[in-house]
Amino acid sequence: MKPSRWTLPVVVVGLIAVPLWWAWPGFAVGWRGAGIVLGWLGYGFIFASLVCMMREPRLARWFGGLERMYAWHHVLGVWAYVFLLAHPLALAADWLPDAPDYAWSVLSPARQDLAGWLGWAALLCLMAGLGSALSARLSYSAWRWLHGLLALSVPLGLAHLVALGITDWLLWMPVLALGVLLWRVLRSDVGLGALPHVVSAVSRPARDIVELTLKPMARGVRARPGQFILVAFFEGPRFRGCHEYHPFTLTHIAPDGSLRIGIKALGDCTRHIQSIEPGVAVRVQGAFGDFGAVEADKPAVWLAGGIGIAPFLALLRASPPARPVTLIYLYQSPADAAFVAELEALARQHTGVSLQTVVADGGPPDLDAILPASEVLVGRECLLCGPPALVSAAVHVLQSRGVPVGCIHYERFDFR
Ligand SMILES: Cc1cc2nc3c(=O)[nH]c(=O)nc-3n(C[C@H](O)[C@H](O)[C@H](O)COP(=O)(O)OP(=O)(O)OC[C@H]3O[C@@H](n4cnc5c(N)ncnc54)[C@H](O)[C@@H]3O)c2cc1C
Repeated sequence: MKPSRWTLPVVVVGLIAVPLWWAWPGFAVGWRGAGIVLGWLGYGFIFASLVCMMREPRLARWFGGLERMYAWHHVLGVWAYVFLLAHPLALAADWLPDAPDYAWSVLSPARQDLAGWLGWAALLCLMAGLGSALSARLSYSAWRWLHGLLALSVPLGLAHLVALGITDWLLWMPVLALGVLLWRVLRSDVGLGALPHVVSAVSRPARDIVELTLKPMARGVRARPGQFILVAFFEGPRFRGCHEYHPFTLTHIAPDGSLRIGIKALGDCTRHIQSIEPGVAVRVQGAFGDFGAVEADKPAVWLAGGIGIAPFLALLRASPPARPVTLIYLYQSPADAAFVAELEALARQHTGVSLQTVVADGGPPDLDAILPASEVLVGRECLLCGPPALVSAAVHVLQSRGVPVGCIHYERFDFR
C-alpha cells in the first residue's frame, strides 16, 4: 500500500464507524439509546487511539509518521473520554423524569453492581491518565506511569461489557483493542520486536555528548538519513544500561547496516549513557520519521539547536545535497560545539552548502537576527530540529516572515 495523507483518517473513521453501525440500538430510543451509542462510540475512539500508538515502522509510514500518529492518538483519546463520561449521564437521564432516585442509582458509585463498578473503575483510570497527559509539568517518568492507567481502562472496559452480559459479536471490538494494546506493550515497550545490536565504537564529540556506532548482530533496520530509531541499552563489560526505549536520530548509516547516533545528556538515562563503552548490548526499533525527505529541488534553510544537528549531519554525511543549503547551527558554548570541524569540512567539500555557527552564550538565541530576511526566505524549504522551545520560536519567526506553513518542517526532540 502506498502512503497517503488520507490513509490514517480513513482507517480511524472505519474503526469507529463499523462497530457503531453494528451496535446501533434499534431496540432503544431517547436517552437510553444515546447512552448505549455513546458507550460504543467512546470505545471505538479508544480503539482507534490505540492503533495510533503502535510503533511499527511500516504502519508509521502508511499513516504519515509516528509524530502524526501520536497527535491523532491524543485527540482521539480525549474524545473517547468525553463520550465515555457522557455514557452513564445519558443512561441516567433516561430515568430522570419518571424515577429520579433510580436515575441517581445509575450514577452513584455507592449503588453499583459489579458491572457498574468495573465501568466506574475504567472511567477513573481514563480520568487520571488523561489528567497526566494534559499536564505539561510532570516529569517524564511520572507522566509515563500515570499514562499506563489509560491502558488499564481498556481491560476494565472489556470486563464491564462482559459483566453486563454482552456476549454477541460486538465484543470483538474491545477484544481487538486489548490485542492492539498487548501488541504495543510486548513488541515496543518490552521490545520483542526490537533487533539486537552491539555498541562497536564510542566517541565524545563535545561536552555531555557521545556518538555511538551500533552494529547489527543479525538483521539491521532499514533506515535513511533524517530518521530516528528507538534504542534501549542493556549490559556491557562494566556498563549497566537503563533498559528503556528512547528515541535518537541517526547521524550516519553505514553500508554494512551499522548505525550511528549522538546522545546528549538531557536526563537520568542519557546522562548515564555518557559512560558507555564498546561491547554494550543494545536493542533497536525503527526506523521512523520522514524528516529531510522534502522536495530536493528547492533551496533550503536548515536550523539546528544543539544535538538537533543530528539529522542534518546524517544528510550531509550521506551525500551532497541536490540544492543550495544554508545550515545554521546554534549551540550554548564552544564546549558544546559537537561535530563543528566535520561540518566545516563537509561544507567545504559540498559546493552549495554554507555553514553558519552561532554561540548562544547562555541566553536564548536572537532568532530575529539569526534567521534570514523575508526576501531570502522566498521559495525556500525550512527544516528545523532541536529543543521544542527553539523550534516553536523559529516557526513563529519564519511564519511572520511569510514562509508558508507547508514549507516549514520540524522535528521536536520530545513526544509525550
Ligand atoms: C524524534 C526524537 C528524536 C530525538 N533524537 C535525539 C538525538 O538524536 N539525540 C539526543 O540526545 N536526544 C534525542 N532526542 C531526545 C531524547 O530522546 C531524550 O533526551 C531522552 O529520551 C531523554 O531521556 P532521559 O531518561 O535521559 O531523560 P528524562 O529526564 O527521562 O526525559 C527528558 C525529556 O526527554 C523526553 N523523553 C524521555 N524519555 C523519552 C522516551 N522514551 N520517548 C520520547 N521522549 C522521551 C521527554 O520529553 C522528557 O521530558 C530525540 C527525541 C525525539 C522525540
